[in-house]
Amino acid sequence: MDLFLVAPAGLLLGGFLNLIIIRLPREQGLGEWPRCTRCKQRLAWWQFLPLFGWLLQGGRARCCGRRLSVIHPIIDLLTAATLVLLYLQHHLSISLFYSAAVASVLIVTGAIDWQHRLIYTLPTLGAALASVVVAFAIPFHSLLNALAGLLIAGILFVIFYVLAKFLFPAHRAPFGLGDVYLGMFIGAALGLTNLPGALLYGMLLAGAFSAILVVVRRIGKRDVPQYISYGTFLCIGALIYLLLWGLAGPRPVV
Ligand SMILES: [Zn+2]
Repeated sequence: MDLFLVAPAGLLLGGFLNLIIIRLPREQGLGEWPRCTRCKQRLAWWQFLPLFGWLLQGGRARCCGRRLSVIHPIIDLLTAATLVLLYLQHHLSISLFYSAAVASVLIVTGAIDWQHRLIYTLPTLGAALASVVVAFAIPFHSLLNALAGLLIAGILFVIFYVLAKFLFPAHRAPFGLGDVYLGMFIGAALGLTNLPGALLYGMLLAGAFSAILVVVRRIGKRDVPQYISYGTFLCIGALIYLLLWGLAGPRPVV
């Protein structure tokens, strides 16, 4: 019964995350009434309804026919599914709110990195710090676990960063400082105990996606991207880990 409330709440949260995903890279405030990003016309209220706004417009802006990215309805659905799964796992508890906040940061960061190849320094480090501050109150988490996760992830990702600089000096950095900050957030939010699992999922996903790109390029497609947004895969990996195991981590099979 509760799920009939949680799923729409998830869609609403998704709509809010989309607002951040669209506006943060364009340096717009969150307070103004939404406008079309191309023709600047004020949107009707139904145009920015989560999921339904996109569907009702058939994926094209009603005002000027601009193609609306399919990312946004996907974010709406993903956020709703995430909230439902987290609710089934935690019910109404502090773990639910904490996990939903962590998932929201992962979804926004992953989407912006996918679209703009950009991970924000201050919001990401701020979220990492906030995770450390509240960790003591979260079941299966602790201040020590959060701090250790932040520190170990920071060291690990700085090593990756330096290695990437040496290995690909001529290329555009395949692994940026933003990925270091994102790693620190994942370490702090999920804790050292869950860090290896969360990173493993992300790296396996990134590896699988890169392999698919290589195959597609071999087949002869030219418009295949030369790089992947590594941060996006770290976010998806951490999100999947959170949804599968929560902060308690994989239970031993007895
Ligand atoms: Zn327009």
